[in-house]
Amino acid sequence: MADELARFRGDTGLSLARATVDELAARAVPTSPSNYEIWIAHATGAYPDLSREIELRRLRGEPFTDEVNTDLFERYFAKTRLSAQMVEASAGIARELEGVVSSLRGAGVQAGSYAGELESASQRMDVGLAPSDFRAIVARLAATTREMAAHNRDLEKKMDVSSRQMEALQTTLQNVRIESLTDGLTGLANRKHFDETLNARLAEEQADHAGLCLLLCDIDHFKRVNDTWGHQIGDQVIRFVATVLRAQVEGDFLAARYGGEEFALIMPRTKLAAAAEIAERIRTTIKAKTLSRKSTGEILGRVTISLGIACHTTGEDAATLIGRTDACLYQSKRTGRDRVTAGGSVRPASAA
Ligand code: GH3
Ligand code: MG
Ligand code: MG
Repeated sequence: MADELARFRGDTGLSLARATVDELAARAVPTSPSNYEIWIAHATGAYPDLSREIELRRLRGEPFTDEVNTDLFERYFAKTRLSAQMVEASAGIARELEGVVSSLRGAGVQAGSYAGELESASQRMDVGLAPSDFRAIVARLAATTREMAAHNRDLEKKMDVSSRQMEALQTTLQNVRIESLTDGLTGLANRKHFDETLNARLAEEQADHAGLCLLLCDIDHFKRVNDTWGHQIGDQVIRFVATVLRAQVEGDFLAARYGGEEFALIMPRTKLAAAAEIAERIRTTIKAKTLSRKSTGEILGRVTISLGIACHTTGEDAATLIGRTDACLYQSKRTGRDRVTAGGSVRPASAA
């Protein structure tokens, strides 16, 4: 942490700050605190995804409008704000609960004295009462009962507010979780979600040995796609490949965007032969689609992908399985692209 802050101190810090302000000026971005935060994070290289996005945008010659800046800030820095919101919400709920607990205690005391009231009334009833005494006892009981009812209504209201706040907090937590596990461009699981899920599935596989296959794929000559058709079409192609992968998700399969134009599919309880069939289906579906420019309908052409699949072997960890699957993907690239290479006993299914 001390090292982290060192670059913001002294001459280094000053020149970093100056360079950041110069960058903002060069891109005609207002020097607001949030814009400054974006660009200084970019300058330090602490947010590789953010830096990549800024660089891509710059390459495309797209301006940094207020909308773009706000969007960048929301996506990369709003998380801290969200957790601040959660802290606030939790504090609010704690206060509510305190209120409920003290009401409950109050109700306990109240109910105790109510019971006492009833008991002493019933004892006095036993010995035979004058009508005036009787009226006094009944009036007292009626008053205590009313008090008790009012107290219970108050308690009910407090409980209601608390439970609504709890629900709101639950929704916030759920949204934060979904957001932090989803890739913004494609809606597929992001790398973090992929890593977590693969580890969880591996643990299950170690226990039940039902078979766990991994698929990795990468769009062929994607740089050409960007160079010829532009990055926006490039993004559309990434989304299209994601759609085809999503269509193959069954049961607890997980489709993820593994990197820029690389994807992964985790297939629990699947043997290599079945995984090879799925991979083949993905390959041919993508290849079969003629891509066109949405705005004009202009025909652009087709894209192909290369795939690698491998099945988990006993005792293997996530990194080794990924490494073997990646080697299969690399083999597909090396032997001509647009094909599936399967690790293990299944022979690679080559392209037509
Ligand atoms: P190969 O067949 O060997 O995979 O060739 P390739 O050109 O696809 O090479 P590579 O996989 O290394 O290309 C990755 C390119 O993908 C480089 C980068 O500019 C582009 N890219 C990565 N992420 C994105 C993105 O989110 N959008 C767009 N449009 N392009 C991206
Ligand atoms: Mg690649
Ligand atoms: Mg590629």
